[in-house]
Amino acid sequence: MRTCVGCRRTDSRSALLRVVAVVGEWGGNVSLVPDPRHRLPGRGAWLHLSTTCLEQAVRRKAFTRALRLQVGPDSTAVQKYLTTTRDRPTEGGSDADEHPMRTQQ
Ligand SMILES: [Zn+2]
Repeated sequence: MRTCVGCRRTDSRSALLRVVAVVGEWGGNVSLVPDPRHRLPGRGAWLHLSTTCLEQAVRRKAFTRALRLQVGPDSTAVQKYLTTTRDRPTEGGSDADEHPMRTQQ
């Protein structure tokens, strides 16, 4: 179980999006990048696939704390990711995607 940095509720990894911080080449600006395949190195924060949770996390500066950042990160890329994947179900019915072809008990 992981804790969403937005609503602070725990959920399974499959229900949450991993987000990592990438420092810009000038070192000053930090961008949040969605990491749905859990491939990016470094410290990650976990967020529901919900713009509401993202907004809460930004307002609380939760990413700054969770990712140990010096400055407030730019969450544009995550916002864009959430709005483009909004159609995907995050509750109920998601089990079908996790266990394809497994109908036997
Ligand atoms: Zn949440």
